[in-house]
Amino acid sequence: MGCSGSVASADSATSCYLVEVDAGDRVYRLAADLGSGAIGALQRQADPAGLDAVLLTHGHPDHMADAYGLSVYLRYGPGSRETPLPLVGPSGIGARVVDVGGGDDSALSPFAVHEVDPGDEGTFGPLTVTTARANHPVPALAYRFTGPSVCDGKTATLVYTGDTDVSDDVAALAQGADVLLAEAGWGTGTGTPGYHLTARQAGELAQRAGVGRLVLTHLAPWADRDGSLDAAADAFDGDIQLAVPGAVVEL
Ligand SMILES: [Zn+2]
Ligand SMILES: [Zn+2]
Repeated sequence: MGCSGSVASADSATSCYLVEVDAGDRVYRLAADLGSGAIGALQRQADPAGLDAVLLTHGHPDHMADAYGLSVYLRYGPGSRETPLPLVGPSGIGARVVDVGGGDDSALSPFAVHEVDPGDEGTFGPLTVTTARANHPVPALAYRFTGPSVCDGKTATLVYTGDTDVSDDVAALAQGADVLLAEAGWGTGTGTPGYHLTARQAGELAQRAGVGRLVLTHLAPWADRDGSLDAAADAFDGDIQLAVPGAVVEL
C-alpha cells in the first residue's frame, strides 16, 4: 500500500503492507504498518473497517501515523465492527497513536491494543507471527509471518524487517524465509549508525538468512533506485525486486 522510506513520495505513501491469507470461507487481512498517507491506498484495496489486525513495527510516523487516521475512520466513517480491531506493536505504541491525535485518548477506543516484547509469538487467523528486536533508536520489531501458501498444502513465510540497522536478531528471524521484505533506507549511501540498512546490507541480510526472494523497500523519494537494486544484487544470489505501490507478491 505504501513503500516510500521516511517521507511519502510523489508516487507512494509511507510504509504499509497488506497481508492477505486464505482463511477457508474468507480472506484474512492484516496490515503490517500504517504509515502516513497509507490509509488512502488501503481504501483502494480493502475496507479499512474489515481489517482483522494491524501490526505496527514502531512509533515513527512513516510506520504508524495513519493508525490515528484509521481510528477516525472506524469511529466516524462507514462500516462498523462487532469487535475491537487488534492493534499490535512494541512497548509504547498505544501512547504514540494518542500523541499523533494531539493527546486524543479516544483514539484507542476502536482498538484492542497489544504491546508485545521482542521474541513474542502470536496467532492471527491462519497466521503464526513471531517477532524480533530491530536495531533502531526507538522500540522496534521485525515480524515473521507463517501461514498457508497459495500452493495447496504448502506453508509460506514472509519476514518484514520494519526499520533496522544490521542485526543478528533480525537475521535469525529471517532464516529461510520465502520472501524477505527488507528496508534499505540508506540506499546507495550511508547514514547514522543504528537506524537503517544500506541496499547492500539488505542484500547481505538476504544472503546470510538464505531467503528465496528479496523485496527492497523503504527507499527515500530521492534514493538511487537502480543503484540500490544493483548494490543488493552484488550481495545476494536470489531473486530481487523493488517494492512499488500496488505490487503483489504471491507466496
Ligand atoms: Zn521508517
Ligand atoms: Zn523508523
